[in-house]
Amino acid sequence: MRYAGTVYRPPSEANSFLLQATIGCSWNHCTYCAMYRDKEFRVRPLAETLVDIAAAGHAFGAQVRKVFVMDGDALTMGIELWEPILHSLKDAFPNLRRVSCYATALNLLVKEQEELRRLCDLGLKLLYIGPESGDDVTLKRIAKGASSADHVEAAAKAREAGMKQSLIFLLGAGGTERSIEHATASARLATAMDPEFLSTLTLMLIPSTPIYRLAENGRFKMPSVEGLLRELRIIVAECKPTDTVFRSNHASNYLPIEGRLPRDREAILKSIDAALSGDAPVRAEWLRGL
Ligand code: SF4
Repeated sequence: MRYAGTVYRPPSEANSFLLQATIGCSWNHCTYCAMYRDKEFRVRPLAETLVDIAAAGHAFGAQVRKVFVMDGDALTMGIELWEPILHSLKDAFPNLRRVSCYATALNLLVKEQEELRRLCDLGLKLLYIGPESGDDVTLKRIAKGASSADHVEAAAKAREAGMKQSLIFLLGAGGTERSIEHATASARLATAMDPEFLSTLTLMLIPSTPIYRLAENGRFKMPSVEGLLRELRIIVAECKPTDTVFRSNHASNYLPIEGRLPRDREAILKSIDAALSGDAPVRAEWLRGL
């Protein structure tokens, strides 16, 4: 396969075939994100993408059950590109169960409802969306490019189309100043978007990013470990999804947790309280990563 630069995928796509149909992120402004700063966004020529699919089909064929389409917001591609890609994936991988990609709220909002339905019917079943926060002040500060209301509208379109959603919220994104507002509004937004999968990551300050420079200049202050655990506790205690798989087991987090919400809420809160009181260990700093 030809991959341009470093590629990223969600942890749950570890066994998926990774298809790089776009390069970089069409937004590329989020102040905490370093993933695609070295890439100028472009859509790969369709012919190249189709050649990669055919080659992977010959090599792996029936073994492939899941495909993750990259890079940072592949849903930005027009339906005229998605359609042949999804058809080719079906032809190449007879046991294909689902195709997924990262998506922004804007990607969803600019697409017609019928287009999203068509993409879902052709196999694009799961979108990974990172609102990161439900707090509009925080969303503006981190330059997410969409408000909490935009995310609610985008989620409704995805659901109406039949697509599942995996949402990511970023502990620490509001700094110490907006910590509580960030957590309570994130719980509210998670409730409103009502995803099938919900996870938290913890902000890591990466030297090439604007938020790192703000922190260096004293204009952004990262919450303490206790503050981050309190944000996690608020999100778990206050979000009210219908039924979601909740995970905080990403390597950036201090406390790896897994369960279903609302079913396992009390058990998860107990684990967080044990970490807060020092009765359970948190992940050592040197074990954390992206
Ligand atoms: S939309 Fe995603 S990939 Fe693009 S800059 Fe923001 S966090 Fe990074």
